[in-house]
Amino acid sequence: MKKINFLNFNREMISFLFLYFKEKIFVVYQILNWIYKKLCFSFNNMTNINIKLREKLNNLFNIDLPIIINTKKSVDGVIKWLLNVNGDFIETVYIPENKRCTLCISTQVGCIINCNFCSTGKIGFKRNLNVSEIIGQILLVNFLINKDNKLKSITNIVLMGMGEPLFNFFNVINSIKIMLDKYCFNFSKRKIVLSTSGISDKIYRLINYVDIVLTFSLHAPNNFIRNKIMSINKKYDIISVLDSINYYIYYSKANRGKINIEYIMLYNINDSKKNAYQLINLLKDFSSKINLIPFNNINNNIFFYKNSKNILNFYNILVNNGIFVFIRKIRGNDINASCGQLSGKLI
Ligand code: SAH
Ligand code: SF4
Repeated sequence: MKKINFLNFNREMISFLFLYFKEKIFVVYQILNWIYKKLCFSFNNMTNINIKLREKLNNLFNIDLPIIINTKKSVDGVIKWLLNVNGDFIETVYIPENKRCTLCISTQVGCIINCNFCSTGKIGFKRNLNVSEIIGQILLVNFLINKDNKLKSITNIVLMGMGEPLFNFFNVINSIKIMLDKYCFNFSKRKIVLSTSGISDKIYRLINYVDIVLTFSLHAPNNFIRNKIMSINKKYDIISVLDSINYYIYYSKANRGKINIEYIMLYNINDSKKNAYQLINLLKDFSSKINLIPFNNINNNIFFYKNSKNILNFYNILVNNGIFVFIRKIRGNDINASCGQLSGKLI
């Protein structure tokens, strides 16, 4: 019989399983402690668990992590791992900063949405990652950090790697539950960011399950431009997505009442003065915070900037009109580890 990866289960599920096994509930906490705090990935080594249960667990389950295929280190400290998950390739990116350290994880192998500017979309969609493959990325990196005292501990998780998280809805939700659980990763809701291209029906449902920071990849000041660069906009237009996020942030504590927006600056596409004023007008009824993202090159793409003057001009117009706006620092560019550069390829 094929063993199931134990990392697919959150605390609730393990509690049900152990109830069925007629085990005491404190054993659930012991096992979680071994896995998530002590980073022990073998039932055999869990010495305070009785031998019969260890054997039973061993017969039914494994605790397998993704396998590292390649490691690339940037001059700025960013590390990108190419990982093999049950035969498919994904990427995970470690981004150390002064006061925090972020891990950017993948949720799908490829992406069906295929936005014009993103290399993940170019490989097409292969499959959703299961919970063990999503959670396994964090456990693996924690394990590496534990061995190397030069690496800082992870403080923030961003679901901004390969894939559209809301198209892998329940696996992503269950993974987030494990990230939030104080007996597992114990991240605060404000330290987990889910980035979406805007799937409004899923956004309305999300708050029923988890509360984390939601950020919207808007990238255009109107539907005309957005339709051209993000095919998903033909199904969920800008206002329908903004309305759904407004609903989400009404109930969310993590978002602190603001719609977080990502806006990639694409040369000659969405970066004019006119576009800046259109964006201001679009967001006038919403409380928002904008991150301007310099486009990261993917194979000499036409959107690329030779200098960042337009970005600064655009930024200044927004600031002068009272918009809460930041320009995102580019990290890991020399190893293709920046937003949109993850393709799961060996080169
Ligand atoms: N699918 C989700 C999450 C993964 S993409 C989403 O689209 O939001 C993570 C972020 O990287 C998104 O904001 C995405 O638009 C951005 N991105 C994609 N390609 C990029 C590129 N070439 N340069 C800069 N950012 C890019
Ligand atoms: Fe998919 Fe996001 Fe890339 Fe678009 S930007 S193709 S939604 S991963």
